[in-house]
Amino acid sequence: MELLGKSAEELRAWVTSQGESAYRGRQIYHALYAERKFDLAGMSNLPAALRARLAEAARITLPEIRRRYQASDGTVRYVLALEAAQAERPATVEAVFMPEKNRQTICISTQAGCAVDCHFCLTATLGLVRNLTAGEIVAQVLLALEENRAALVPQTNVVLMGQGEPLLNYEPVTAALRILLDPNGAGLSPKHVTLSTSGIVPGIARLGEEKVRPKLAVSLNASSDVQRDAIMPINRKYPLAALLEACRKYPLRPWEHLTFEYVLLGGFNDSPEDARRVVKLVASLRCKINLIPWNPGELPYEPPDAGCIEEFRRILTEKGVRAFVRYSRGQEIMAACGQLAVLESAGKLTEITESR
Ligand code: SF4
Repeated sequence: MELLGKSAEELRAWVTSQGESAYRGRQIYHALYAERKFDLAGMSNLPAALRARLAEAARITLPEIRRRYQASDGTVRYVLALEAAQAERPATVEAVFMPEKNRQTICISTQAGCAVDCHFCLTATLGLVRNLTAGEIVAQVLLALEENRAALVPQTNVVLMGQGEPLLNYEPVTAALRILLDPNGAGLSPKHVTLSTSGIVPGIARLGEEKVRPKLAVSLNASSDVQRDAIMPINRKYPLAALLEACRKYPLRPWEHLTFEYVLLGGFNDSPEDARRVVKLVASLRCKINLIPWNPGELPYEPPDAGCIEEFRRILTEKGVRAFVRYSRGQEIMAACGQLAVLESAGKLTEITESR
């Protein structure tokens, strides 16, 4: 029995099946997700004899940290091997830990590879390897926190922006989120957890109905259907009108706004006309836009020039759309999603920090 990824109810049912009282399940749940005890023997809230007996019937399998890369700004990127949990379906994903003065942000993957095929994304070149389990998704957060335990500040942000389209692995992703957002589980605030989607319209509608849900970010990246079709084939299935309608219907909580991510590709989607079209697209939505200047890399796009970035932001702001320029962290360790796995598999990566 693999315990990692199990809900409180599932753990209760399991301990009951082992002839124990149901409340023992709640204790294991707390030790595993709130205290980050990854060994039944170390769960000191259980009697020693019980720990020993349960340890024979269950296991807690964390991904193996294949490599760590540390950037000069403190960002740590982990390459995680997942075969331990599903030996028959080995996979490698990435998680990134980004420390800041008042918070740490952890970026996690929800699938190994991705089928969505955004043309500016290196993960797309992998195709979909497989969906991650709830346990494999939760484990990335727990592992990053545990690895950096000594340096943690009270606020933890989690972004589902690594490899994969979270809304195409819906059940495991929402099961993982229920554990991460449970005050008795990992205890993260829904205000500090963000799911980013390429625009899976039925998934957005479904997420809006969840009792427990994170904030929502939508990867927009274009100001027209023609433009978006050219870089995000998913737009042919869910064009801008349908996507923005789903956004308008999304039931925002009083404190909440939508986030649109807009990767600025030099000479492609970064003109003043693009900015004006974006203003019209998001009119009437409670939202902000994160402008992400393209990092030069393996793919054939150009970074925008500084003047274009500022003019784009100025037009949005002048029209009342909140817009911020976000630069990728840890650029020298490949901050764009999936870059590390792709380069790793191609044997092209210069390692910065050897596995500890
Ligand atoms: S940007 Fe996200 S959704 Fe698009 S191919 Fe990459 S991982 Fe998939």
